[in-house]
Amino acid sequence: MTTKVAKKPANKAATTARTRTKPAAKAAAKPQNRSTGKSGPKKTAGLELQPARIEELLRRLGSAYPNAECALHHRNPWELLIATILSAQCTDARVNMVTPELFRKFPTPQAFAQASLPAIEEEIRSTGFYHNKAKSISGAAKKVVSDFGGRVPQTMQELLTLPGVARKTGNVVLGVAFGKAEGVVVDTHVLRLSHRLGLTRAEDPKRVEEDLMHVLPRDRWIAFSHEMIHHGRQICVARKPKCIDCPLETICNAADKTWSSH
Ligand code: SF4
Repeated sequence: MTTKVAKKPANKAATTARTRTKPAAKAAAKPQNRSTGKSGPKKTAGLELQPARIEELLRRLGSAYPNAECALHHRNPWELLIATILSAQCTDARVNMVTPELFRKFPTPQAFAQASLPAIEEEIRSTGFYHNKAKSISGAAKKVVSDFGGRVPQTMQELLTLPGVARKTGNVVLGVAFGKAEGVVVDTHVLRLSHRLGLTRAEDPKRVEEDLMHVLPRDRWIAFSHEMIHHGRQICVARKPKCIDCPLETICNAADKTWSSH
């Protein structure tokens, strides 16, 4: 699952203007490009969990991505569940291309439950891993119909009984469809950024989620993951993060920053 944002980071222009003026001024005294490793010691990303820093981090993320929301098109919790299953190893844009026809052919959990696997596979082939995804969707539909009266359950415990649903999908459905913060969505962006920002050292997504749940106030769990996903897509990309444009730069000590003001 990834999310979309209605606008660019609110303070991007201001931040860019600020940061772009700094390299020249600081060039003589400070290391500027950590990716080269040629100037100055390389900082390591240890845990940085001071409450004031976390508060500032959340403030800046919220300010930069005030309208962050789920980018998977859906009209109800069931469609969100299916779209999230389809989004594994696939872009949201591709999923959004597939789901209109998919939901036209199979408009309800009952319709999915009665559909053959090849019929589902045919519709979702372009999202990749379609054999497994079709099995998950078919299994989830049958379980939702047989055990939950055709309605998507609203607890993590129940969601995890559905084929193809792990905590990430459960958190997406609970947070986006029901507004329930039972955990933090940890996708590849949240995982990478949480390391860079010193919020966890864990590698396993479940452990990362536990660390984030411990560090973040519960009322920010849902928005935090949306904001981090946007930031990971737009600025803090996997290779060569755009640190010079980053509103978090002055409070980030990631080892692989491409530019630093401190
Ligand atoms: S300063 Fe660079 S590494 Fe740190 S959060 Fe921003 S883009 Fe990512």
